[in-house]
Amino acid sequence: MSFFDTSVSEVVSQVQAGTITALELVEKSLAVIAEKNPEINAFITVSAAEARARAKEIDALSSEEKSKMVLCGIPVAVKDNISTKGIMTTSGSKILDGYIPPYDAHVVEKILAAGAVIVGKTNLDEFAMGSSNENSAYGIVRNPRNLNAVPGGSSGGSAAAVAADMVPLALGSDTGGSIRQPASHCGIVGVKPTYGLVSRYGLIAYASSLDQIGPMGHRVDDCALLLSVIAGEDRRDSTNSGKNYEIGSFGSLKGKKIGLPAEYFGEGLTDEVRAIIDESKAKLVAAGAELVTVHLPNVSHAIASYYVIATAEASSNLSRFDGVKFGYRAQGTTSLIDMYKKTRAEGFGEEVKKRIMLGTYVLSSGYYDAYYLKAAQVRTLITRDFENAFKECDLILSPVTPAPAFMIGEKTSDPIQMYLTDIYTVSANLAGIPGVSIPAGEVNGLPVGAQLMAPKWAEKGMIDAASVLA
Ligand code: GLN
Repeated sequence: MSFFDTSVSEVVSQVQAGTITALELVEKSLAVIAEKNPEINAFITVSAAEARARAKEIDALSSEEKSKMVLCGIPVAVKDNISTKGIMTTSGSKILDGYIPPYDAHVVEKILAAGAVIVGKTNLDEFAMGSSNENSAYGIVRNPRNLNAVPGGSSGGSAAAVAADMVPLALGSDTGGSIRQPASHCGIVGVKPTYGLVSRYGLIAYASSLDQIGPMGHRVDDCALLLSVIAGEDRRDSTNSGKNYEIGSFGSLKGKKIGLPAEYFGEGLTDEVRAIIDESKAKLVAAGAELVTVHLPNVSHAIASYYVIATAEASSNLSRFDGVKFGYRAQGTTSLIDMYKKTRAEGFGEEVKKRIMLGTYVLSSGYYDAYYLKAAQVRTLITRDFENAFKECDLILSPVTPAPAFMIGEKTSDPIQMYLTDIYTVSANLAGIPGVSIPAGEVNGLPVGAQLMAPKWAEKGMIDAASVLA
């Protein structure tokens, strides 16, 4: 199943030719959302009126204007930590309830200019902190493939919206796996670009040195199309590289070396997922690639390093939510300090509070050297591990998660078990390299993805190989 029977670009050609209208596509999307969202809860906000008005605007354009729009009339869902002018943006938090951004994120400007229609804002773990979408102030999201299972997180709403055919494409953000892991759990494609390829302007920051926005969709070519729209220069994000991503014809894998990190296929990986990754290996070999074993000796420390760095950055980034500038403010307070305290106590959820405390602790004088500095050093070692591995291979193949989606409530009482589900994804963020999750198989009806990772800026080769696995 998929929203369209064909690729998004074929449907775009039909909208451009006038054989189908943008309004028809939006009505189809809104109808599926009305039918399925009450159960799945993929959307926090459905912007039906704005979407219809925008679709009519697109339909009224001249064919010459439409011909320049590569997403002409396509309904897209946007994760609710990405700012949309005039549409509530909560980041899954009560502290931003009612916050209406006065500006669009860079990626939103880009997709609108390309003719996309935003149908709504998708649910997420509060401030993108989580792996299951059970941490949202707007309720849990259910996995469309099994309503008792989690969709993954934190972009669980975007993944579920695509998997349930509410939209053909969605935007997510990935700080430690939040595009790839829910894509894997919901059976769709998700791309985390190289750090610096896509501007973070207008993305509500979780951990700024790790965050990247990326595309989620049913097909590899659809995600490549959306990536080509959102990548590119933006001076408003100082870490933006100015590089573009251009889609071309998919190249051959003949003579390409695919690295299999020994450390990713050891203890902790379930037999079911291992068997599915074996099938992916076979597909790559059949396409002409050669498999080689590589080593990432420091990745066993990736989770520890990630959760120190991410919480440290989050504790700083979230200090701006104080009841003064955005969203929620506690009532009945007696002084400024009291207002700050009560607003943050009432506005933030448990997981966010835990991470702010952890992050403040690892940055505090006396502990900085022992925790934050060590984690930053480990990050450098992991980055070098990947640089060395890529001297011996063009791409790396690995699992996305050790097991398929778990059941709702199964891991909420055991945060360490929850954090360990990120074991194969966080390293790409620490190293700043791109990664993609491609549907690779199923276990008891639950989808399982395979992950490809590439050197920085090598999205093209990574997406070529992903199209072989799809
Ligand atoms: N699960 C990871 C975390 O909780 C990753 C989240 C993300 O990529 N936004 O931090």
